[in-house]
Amino acid sequence: MICLKIPPVLKKMHGIFEQHGYSAYLVGGAVRDMLMGKTPSDWDVTTNARPEEIIQIFHKVIPTGIAHGTVTVHFMKNEIEVTTFRTESGYSDGRHPDHIEYAATIQDDLSRRDFTMNAIAVNLADGTVVDPFGGQNDIRHEIIRTVGKPSERFMEDGLRPIRAIRFAAQLKFSIEKDTYSELFKAEIQKKAAGISVERFRDEMIKLLKAEEPSAGIKLLEETHLLDIFMPEFRPCVQCIQGDGRGFHEFDVMTHLMYACDGAPKDKLNVRLAALLHDIGKPQAKNIKTENGAELYTFYNHEQISEKISRPLLARLKFPNALIDNVCHLVKNHMFNYEPTWTDAAVRRFLVRTGYENFEDLIDLRLADIYGMHRIPLRLHDSPAGKLLLELKDRIEVEHEKNSALTLKALAVNGKDLMHAGIPAGKTVGKVLNYLLETVLDDPAQNTKDTLLTIAQNYCQNMQKACSE
Ligand code: ATP
Ligand code: MG
Repeated sequence: MICLKIPPVLKKMHGIFEQHGYSAYLVGGAVRDMLMGKTPSDWDVTTNARPEEIIQIFHKVIPTGIAHGTVTVHFMKNEIEVTTFRTESGYSDGRHPDHIEYAATIQDDLSRRDFTMNAIAVNLADGTVVDPFGGQNDIRHEIIRTVGKPSERFMEDGLRPIRAIRFAAQLKFSIEKDTYSELFKAEIQKKAAGISVERFRDEMIKLLKAEEPSAGIKLLEETHLLDIFMPEFRPCVQCIQGDGRGFHEFDVMTHLMYACDGAPKDKLNVRLAALLHDIGKPQAKNIKTENGAELYTFYNHEQISEKISRPLLARLKFPNALIDNVCHLVKNHMFNYEPTWTDAAVRRFLVRTGYENFEDLIDLRLADIYGMHRIPLRLHDSPAGKLLLELKDRIEVEHEKNSALTLKALAVNGKDLMHAGIPAGKTVGKVLNYLLETVLDDPAQNTKDTLLTIAQNYCQNMQKACSE
């Protein structure tokens, strides 16, 4: 019989359950991780104690999902999700379980779980493994298989097809043949279309944190589940961009997926930006002929990409700050640094993109380059890498100089201008922007006297131009 080593915190927790006459098991991702030799990141426990009983026997219990029989127990500095044994509850609206039915045994509880690898429990009393559906064998063979018939399990909850794909990417497993073919069925797709966007989004976030999200995005695309939640990507599939110049080996969709792989896995914003940065290319695509050769152009695709990304991310209910940030990165991903840039040009770039976004823009550029041929760019010994490093150095220099890069950092403000006789209203705003442009060109001008003089001259010239 297989036994797993139970961590001290769970042993202690089990002691309390046992004292009160209950049993408790470790379930979910933690069991999967332990069987795969990984360190679990959080604990899911299941028990025959009811939520109200759990609240009685532990000091700090938060009723996080009491409608599903789940509470969070704060125990020895850990937050442990504890769910009472349940049977399948059904999500007829795709959003909320209709009702909870408690189960009597751990076997009944495991039978309502989605995949065999997720239907394994470890008895916290002695570490023995309960595995009624061959989950360990499937983990060993790296296979995702539903517990029971895939058609039935997918029809019970439309999130499960998405979870199958998320797990495939996250664990680098393949989806068992019958489970996989079910993903293409019309009724399953319809069921998936009924789930809440929040549930889809949360799976998408987990998928985007995988080593290679492309494995999952490819599955979403080929099963057409992508069309349900993010139809904006469809024109990117087969949109050819390689025109013999060697920049692009892949169609736009494939490039986007691989660019996403090339972004840092702990930066959700950059992963999203990488996935979306060229989504406007199909709309921007044009063909021009140069020296008899046909070349593709995608002028302004970054603006179109931003326009498409914003409603897409809003529809999936990503937080507004994240949407703004991702859209900003998408819109600014096409910078083309050359050593001939003047310091003023570097400052203007900094004003446009924001110092706080610079690392992310570099990461996005590296992701973009990775997505062209699936080869990482060597920053220190490639011409493109060296250029990025040079820009980074120059940005740091400008940043450290503390040059005025915003209206706020000017040596004068609106009040000063009005004191000096500049008419209140629109003119003040215009003059301030002109002064910022001046200071960006030459930071030495950023003193009160100089700027007031420049402002007065500028106004006089404006008035003259108006009266002529
Ligand atoms: P991770 O924590 O990495 O997302 P996990 O397997 O722990 O992976 P959770 O979403 O935390 O996934 O769910 C815990 C367990 O609950 C799963 O392992 C599975 O047994 C069960 N489960 C979760 N969602 C579903 C679902 N939609 N249908 C059936 N069982 C589910
Ligand atoms: Mg979990």
